[in-house]
Amino acid sequence: MAYRLPHEFEIDRATSRLELVRENPEVSFGMWNERGAAWYRYQLGHWYDTGFNEITNLDEIPQWCKDAVAKNPPRGSRSFGPTVTDVCRICGDEMNASDLNDHYLDHYNRMKDDAGTLLATPAVPTKDAPESTKKHDANRVGR
Ligand SMILES: [Zn+2]
Repeated sequence: MAYRLPHEFEIDRATSRLELVRENPEVSFGMWNERGAAWYRYQLGHWYDTGFNEITNLDEIPQWCKDAVAKNPPRGSRSFGPTVTDVCRICGDEMNASDLNDHYLDHYNRMKDDAGTLLATPAVPTKDAPESTKKHDANRVGR
């Protein structure tokens, strides 16, 4: 099996952005030998040497490398999926991005149900109506 890049990207034609489409978890062990730096890489059940050639004779690989992989096999960082937090632009609630679409639909349906009652209340507050203390800060300037 040929060596694969640890992270494979593809261009998304809609957004022109590179999107991570596949992760090939690997672990590398570096060491010095008589010829310089040497690497043993473990990826998807196969071992590769410094030049990314597959090592078929597993006796070449130091036992401590095999033990380390057996004890702690490499796993993809996205194995459980990302948790993306987003904020509702209507009420400011924080939630998982996957719930946001339904949340906006709830806002829309509530607004639709309240449409008649909103028209029944005066658009311009009367002089008798108490003015909200939270609103119209800009109008208070100079008073
Ligand atoms: Zn909301």
